[in-house]
Amino acid sequence: RGANSAASNELFTVRSPNVIYTDDAIKSTYTYRTTKVTKAGNKYVAEPLETVYDFNVQRKVGKVGLMLVGWGGNNGTTVTAGIIANRDGLTWETREGPRCANYYGSVIMGSTIKLGNEAETGKEIHIPFHDILPMVHPNDLVLGGWDISGMNLADAMDRAAVLEPDLKRQVKKEMQNMVPLPSVYYPDFIAANQEDRADNILKGTKEEHVEKIRSDIRNFKAEKNLDKIIVLWTANTERYAEIIPGVNDTAQNLLAAIKAGHDEVAPSTIFAIACIQEGVPFINGSPQNTFVPGAIELAEQRKSFIGGDDFKSGQTKMKSALVDFLVNAGIKLTSIASYNHLGNNDGRNLSEQKTFRSKEISKSNVVDDMVEANSVLYKKGEHPDHTVVIKYMPAVGDSKRALDEYYGEIFLGGHQTISMSNVCEDSLLASPLIIDLALIAELMTRITWKSHASNGVVTKDYRGFHSVLSILSYMLKAPCTPPGAPVINSLAKQRAAMSNIFRACVGLDPESDMTLEHKLF
Ligand code: NAD
Repeated sequence: RGANSAASNELFTVRSPNVIYTDDAIKSTYTYRTTKVTKAGNKYVAEPLETVYDFNVQRKVGKVGLMLVGWGGNNGTTVTAGIIANRDGLTWETREGPRCANYYGSVIMGSTIKLGNEAETGKEIHIPFHDILPMVHPNDLVLGGWDISGMNLADAMDRAAVLEPDLKRQVKKEMQNMVPLPSVYYPDFIAANQEDRADNILKGTKEEHVEKIRSDIRNFKAEKNLDKIIVLWTANTERYAEIIPGVNDTAQNLLAAIKAGHDEVAPSTIFAIACIQEGVPFINGSPQNTFVPGAIELAEQRKSFIGGDDFKSGQTKMKSALVDFLVNAGIKLTSIASYNHLGNNDGRNLSEQKTFRSKEISKSNVVDDMVEANSVLYKKGEHPDHTVVIKYMPAVGDSKRALDEYYGEIFLGGHQTISMSNVCEDSLLASPLIIDLALIAELMTRITWKSHASNGVVTKDYRGFHSVLSILSYMLKAPCTPPGAPVINSLAKQRAAMSNIFRACVGLDPESDMTLEHKLF
């Protein structure tokens, strides 16, 4: 049944000697073309290189659970209500008239990619991003999770003050029955002002906490009859954990530190370790350094997936598009001043220096690679000035204000100043990202590859992608990459990486945008 229903859900098939469809899988052979550069004196030699890969995508998606850490927060309640609203096709009244459920803001559910050109007319054919490979539909995600606040999701949705009353009314009944599991709370890691909501917390040692989270995951999977679970941290921003040799620098030391109950193991790292040990993908939507070196090493050893850090929703998403444009247009950006104020619980938590510092770091490094790539404008080590300010302003609630000034140098010493003001509900931007992260992380558990030697002999067994899922970078402010791999911040490049890797999995070439067919005589 699985394979047939999988095939009948697919919008297109590829007709090519390089692509085979079986009941269970799509198998493609794909030639990856890169350019090898060697330096010869002060000149370069560029050499085309080819590597042939086989990709295997399991077609059967199965039933997928999404467990959120911080389920009772603004994002947790908003994404839950949003999925119910979409699943039930809800319509609600607002003062501007009726509105109906959608997945706007999700790159997977709300955007399209070009499949190719129609044979006769040459017209471009675009398909929903969601249809490029078999993916779970967000309406089918089964939701659960943890929160240090034991409030049921209906009341927590009221506390969040994000959604319209008539929408809340319609999802309330279902959400009243959703109650977060007790969670790990080490007060020192978040702001002191969060203490009054922490009424749903686990007792015991750090080691027992890991075991409890692991059993929560197993129980949820069994209870809901799920094939797979994804866990995502959308809980408060924590302070950075100190990296201490012998404590969190290696997998072995980190496990020993948990056993010993060491103070520098953060709640988010406890969740990460529990997930890695369960072989469940874990994504960090907040800025702190959950993935200390020992956690990354453990994920690699267990071949379990991790992804992070910090949802890239508003100001930074704009920054990673705008800076790419300015620097690639040859304009010398010399300063970026980013100011925010917000009045939700996230803003309240960030009003303490130690948690703000995590956010400041994740917001600050997002232009480095783009600047470094342009040696015409910037000398080695030269950077634009960059300042990030965040203020807590209760009155504006979830409606975050972001004011940015980009100041740059143009032709012959002239200047360009771009000022931007961005106002929107923070949680309505973040919730679709949670969906994208879960959908892609799930998909990555079904893709394996092997490579061919240059003489055509297949050299390896099928294996998975690297544990650190840098393919999630589009949705994340400070993308975590495999140790030693470069970080790519440019939004356009991050999107192209996703769509082109997925195209390769069905044996299609990257979308080159050359459109030679329209440019030649
Ligand atoms: P929120 O404060 O409304 O929700 C966080 C929830 O986590 C709260 O319900 C809190 O009780 C709970 N919590 C705290 N510590 C916990 C723990 N150890 N275990 C389980 N639950 C815990 O915040 P939010 O607006 O939903 O944002 C969530 C996170 O996402 C924040 O760290 C924020 O910085 C990050 N983020 C949000 C956006 C966005 O909303 N646009 C963008 C980027 C990052």
